[in-house]
Amino acid sequence: MTAPERRAALDAIAAEVRACTACRLHAGRTNAVPGEGDPMTEVVLVGEGPGVNEDRLGRPFVGRAGDLLVRLLASIGWQRGDVFITNVVKCRPPDNRDPEPDEVAACAPYLRRQLEVLDPALVVTLGRHSMGRFMPGTSISRAHGTVAEVDPATGAANARVFALYHPAAALRAAAVEAASFADVARIPAALVEARQLRETRAGAPAARLAPDALGGDPLDASPTPSATDQLTLFT
Ligand code: URA
Ligand code: SF4
Repeated sequence: MTAPERRAALDAIAAEVRACTACRLHAGRTNAVPGEGDPMTEVVLVGEGPGVNEDRLGRPFVGRAGDLLVRLLASIGWQRGDVFITNVVKCRPPDNRDPEPDEVAACAPYLRRQLEVLDPALVVTLGRHSMGRFMPGTSISRAHGTVAEVDPATGAANARVFALYHPAAALRAAAVEAASFADVARIPAALVEARQLRETRAGAPAARLAPDALGGDPLDASPTPSATDQLTLFT
């Protein structure tokens, strides 16, 4: 798909989300938050669900957690517009409660379709709810900073997943914030590996972005573990 085709497909999904009444969360929303970003990106960030600021503006990660997310991305030379940012549920759960399983299930087709359109090399999960969709059967304390294969049933047909703590958790604990910066530093290497794996599977050179298109050579990020560490951490 070309960039305009992807943009149109994402806009069509966003329009459906804004009109959606498939779960009870529609009743309390001011604005649905479909997600936003570069339609040609290789990296999709998936949070949990909109908070009060996101609900007010209809955009993901625009409050304090979003500010920290922007700083985390900046630490590897990326800007939020370089990636696509969305959430597991697109409407705000009341009082910032966790989304219920039936709400997550009702909303899942939107995320799956977004991933089908974006076809990322790397999905970055933010927090344990998002991680649970892409790395089932583990805990955030074990999985943060590690990589795993993505089940194509998620919509990401040929991708790896990298788990981060939720930025809101990092705001509550300095140790989690420090771990988050250390984890983010490993993302560029994880992207390079995910990209190489895609090319191997596709049997063709297929990098959509020049090495510096995400803002600097991903291999410049340091400190990063060896390729072997990245590949074996999550086995
Ligand atoms: N927290 C989330 O999980 N998503 C947002 O969009 C904002 C805060
Ligand atoms: Fe629809 Fe998802 Fe909003 Fe529920 S959270 S109303 S499924 S868009």
